[in-house]
Order: sequence, then structure tokens, then C-alpha cells
Amino acid sequence: MADVEQSEIDPNAPVTKISTPIELKYHFTAGRAASRFMRGLMKKKILGQRCPSCLKVYVPPRGSCASCGVPTEEEVELPPKGIVTTYCIVNVPFYGQKIKIPYVTGTILIDGADIGFMHLLQEVEAEEVRMGMRVEAVWQDDSEMVPGLESIKYFRPTGEEDAPFEEYKEYV
Ligand SMILES: [Zn+2]
Repeated sequence: MADVEQSEIDPNAPVTKISTPIELKYHFTAGRAASRFMRGLMKKKILGQRCPSCLKVYVPPRGSCASCGVPTEEEVELPPKGIVTTYCIVNVPFYGQKIKIPYVTGTILIDGADIGFMHLLQEVEAEEVRMGMRVEAVWQDDSEMVPGLESIKYFRPTGEEDAPFEEYKEYV
């Protein structure tokens, strides 16, 4: 409000907008399952966990199955490939944006996984992205690898045939 002169302000007008800078700092404890997942990404491995009861594979793993309520101790390594189940074209510029708009983020369902995660899609025009499109991970340079999904720079189309909707409709 510093740029508004006092004479312009009607003392009886309702306040419709204020600027309030907010900063939150917190520490997130990843736990054993997520730690293994994140360390695996540093080695270009996608590690999930399978539920012993319903056999669903969680990526990222959380250490237990949310449906069955049992620990998921069996680790499975999955390929760095999957399909786009849903996606969003970002057209709106925002503070701190690093990627030229329009760009696309999608939910990637890794082959063999039963839950998808969000990631960036590149090397494809926004209007060409579609549900069922097969994609593969593009890893960061070795010097840029970190324990997290940032070790995957983005996903790009493999050029393979799209997956039919029947194959992934349970995951949309
Ligand atoms: Zn389960």
C-alpha cells in the first residue's frame, strides 16, 4: 500500500485487498520408504513398494498401503517409462516461473505402478500431449542428481503407440 497516496484513500471505503508477505519454513521427515525412493532416484532407479495384500505397487512408496493398512516391505524396481494419465497445460505466467509457457505437467503412471505422480513434460508441443501417451524419464546430468524427483529433468514422448484407455481408466 506504500504506493497509494493518503489523499486517494476514502476512510469509509471497505478494504478489498491487502498484500501480506508470508514465508513458511518447515522440515519434512521422509521416513524409510520415501528415503529409499529418493536415494534410488539419485542412482537413476525408480523404486516402489508392493502391498502384500492387494498387490498394488506404490510409487513413491509410503511404507504402508492406504487401502489395506498393512506395511509394504517388498521393494520393486520399475522402468523409467510410463504413460500420461492426465495433464494440465500451463498458460498463466506466475512469479518465479522458470519454464517458458505454454508448458505441460502430467500425471505419469510408471509401468508396473498403481499410482501416478506429477512431473513436467518436455520435447513435445503442448497441443500434442494426450492421455495414454507413452513417455520416458530424461535424467539430470550426473553432477545435478539430488535425492528427489528433481533428478528426473522431465518426461518426453517415447514415440511408442498410445496406451488404450481401458488399460489405465482405473488410474484417471
Ligand atoms: Zn493393499
